[in-house]
Formats: sequence, structure tokens, C-alpha cells
Amino acid sequence: MNYRSPRGTHDIFGINALGMSLLEQKSKEIFKKYGFEEIRTPIFEDASLFMRSIGQATDIVEKEMYVFEDRKGRKLALRPEGTASLVRACIEHRMDISNPAGKFFYSGEMFRYERPQAGRYRQFHQIGAEYYGNSSPAADAEVIVLAQDLLAAVGIDKINVHINSLGCEKCRPFFRKTLIKYFSSAQGLCDDCARRLKNNPLRLLDCKIDAGKFIEVPQMANYLCDGCKDNFNSVKSLLKSVDCVYTVDEKLVRGLDYYTRTVFEIRSDSTSSQDALAAGGRYDNLVEELGGHDTPAMGFALGSERVMLAAQSVGLFNNFKDSEKIFIAIADQELFNGAFAFAVKIVRNGLSFNKDISVFGPINGKSLTNQLKYADKIQASKTIVFAKTEFENGKVLIKNMKDKTQIEAVINEL
Ligand SMILES: [Zn+2]
Ligand SMILES: [Zn+2]
Repeated sequence: MNYRSPRGTHDIFGINALGMSLLEQKSKEIFKKYGFEEIRTPIFEDASLFMRSIGQATDIVEKEMYVFEDRKGRKLALRPEGTASLVRACIEHRMDISNPAGKFFYSGEMFRYERPQAGRYRQFHQIGAEYYGNSSPAADAEVIVLAQDLLAAVGIDKINVHINSLGCEKCRPFFRKTLIKYFSSAQGLCDDCARRLKNNPLRLLDCKIDAGKFIEVPQMANYLCDGCKDNFNSVKSLLKSVDCVYTVDEKLVRGLDYYTRTVFEIRSDSTSSQDALAAGGRYDNLVEELGGHDTPAMGFALGSERVMLAAQSVGLFNNFKDSEKIFIAIADQELFNGAFAFAVKIVRNGLSFNKDISVFGPINGKSLTNQLKYADKIQASKTIVFAKTEFENGKVLIKNMKDKTQIEAVINEL
């Protein structure tokens, strides 16, 4: 039997692994500059944590979660997103009290049972951040700009920032009622919309099937209370102050129940996909709802696979410079130990003429011809050959693999 990776999962190697590492490394640098610290949470949690936080009437909880029982019958779920886990950790370690203005970032695998397509997997990677304890619109603007900077760091600068305000517990209930009333008279809603009408009417606004069927749909902007209106205006003027170009998008509701006030999505301008590269929003009630102190919060996540696709389409790796590959060969088998010790030495210290190298070889029991073939195969730029006559004089041969010229060099000077 030939095994394959399970449907919707993928092995990341070669240029994609390089890209993922680059994205993670760049994002860590940027998080550090913005004062965010790393947190790593388990890949699985109590299933009820996600059901309560994300919401029962959401795609994730209804259709996409990997829920399982462990051997003691505990109902667990592979994490479908990062926010719920971070809030859980924040409360469990009393960070909502000890570190009221905590800024955290995370990076890792998420799991959703979705139909696989380009950039969309059942096991995928997200990089995200949560900013606790700051209800100021400045926190919203900071998180949006941070997400924009992360994308720019891997060459994605042609983007569209979509923002919207979903209101608060004061003004949203009235908007919900208005929507329920409006959509109740609508004909031919898709199954999802018909089912969600009562529990999650906001989701009907971004339904891909029913979009365009309705005219004069009520708009949240007209229902925001004064506090929410001021808040949204401040977010917009702060974004303007740092030259962040945005579009106010009334249809942007995000799929999750916990959002309040600002929500945002960043989409690529150079790919046709409408999938967001990064998205997030404010969730001022979730920490308290999950048993913590009243702690306002703002966060976002980006989908690493989608970001990689977009980054490759704008030539992320055009200027990528790999380390110089050096192959160590032996012309005489008895020189193997000396060559091995030399290889480890240059792995640790680099060569005098280049510190940025990757070292391959020596390989035991192969003819020199075969070793050189191998060096060509891995695209080594130079092969350092240990041969008896030269070695006895403290020297090696350095073969340039491109033009096939070779020079002698003193081992201790390399
Ligand atoms: Zn409000
Ligand atoms: Zn629909």
C-alpha cells in the first residue's frame, strides 16, 4: 500500500518551506518591534471552548471542526483558529489581571474540514496576534497596520484593506432585529441563510450565493450608537494618519460571533481570490464571557499558505540568495576522517572567503567521479578535494564546479 498525505493536508518542502520560514522569521521581527510577545498553546482544546467562543451558528462549529473523544471520553477539538485558545490561556494564567495590556502573537497549525482548493487546506498555518486591555481605537489601528506591515515584509504591498464596524451590545441587537425583519420577507434564501436567519442574521450579508439578490439591505452604519460611531471615525482617522488606504465595506461581517465594533480584512490586489490574506477585529466581550475579567481585545490572523501564494505571485524569491553550497570530496579513502573533521570545522566557522555556506560530504565508499557527480546534482559551487599528495603538504584542491578549474589551497588558511 502506498500512503499519501490525508486529503486537504500537504507536505511543505523546498522553496515553500523556505518561504514559510521566511514569513515566520519576518513576522517575529515585526511583532517584536510592535511589542508583542510569543505564546504557544496546545493544538487541541476542550471542544466546548470553540463552540462557546466562535458561536454555534457559524461555519466553523457547524461544519468544519475536527472533534474527537480521547480514551477517557473527553470531547476535544483540533483548534480551528487561535483566538479562543489565547483567551483561554490568558484567563488560566491570570494574565487578564497581571498583564492587563498584554500583547501576544502566535504561529502554528490550525484545522478545518473544508473543501480543499488553492491556498486552502484542512491543516493550515496561521500567524496571528491579540492585543488585550486596550479599548482605544488606537489599538484597532495598530493591529491593522501591523498586519499590513507583515504582508509588506514578504513583498505583498498591493493590497486592499476592508474595514467595517459591527457595533456593540447596545446598538447591534437593534440592527439584528432589523435584518431579521428585512430577510424574513425575502424569497429563495439558500439553505444556510434560511437556517441562520434567526441566530446569526449578519452572516446573510456576506452570503456568496445570495449576494446581489437583495436591494436596499439595511446598513449597520445607520444603526451604530454614538459611541460606536465615534470609535469607528477615530479608527479611520488614525489609519489615514499613517497613510493606510482602506475601504469601508458594509458587507464585511466576518464569520465569527465574538466580534464587536471594528472588523477588517486585507485582500490581495494582485490575485483574483476574494479570500482574505489577513483578517481580524475587536472582541471586547469574549474574555469576560469565557470567565475572565472585563478585558477589551483586538486581534487578527493571517493564513500562511494564502500569503505564500500571493507572495510567490509577486516574486518573493526573485531576490532570494541561498547560502553557497560546498561539497567535501576525498580522492583517497584513508583521508576520510581528516575530511570529516574539516567539514565539521567549516560548518561551525565558515570558510575564510565565505561565512554563509552549506556543507555537504564527505561520502564514504564512492569513487571520486561519483562524488563529483553528486556535487553537481546538489548544485555545489565548489568542491574541496582531499587528495593524498596535496594533503601531505597541508593542502587541498578547490574545484570550481561551474568552469571546472581548480586551485590548490592551504588547509589552515581556509
Ligand atoms: Zn454601539
Ligand atoms: Zn445564502
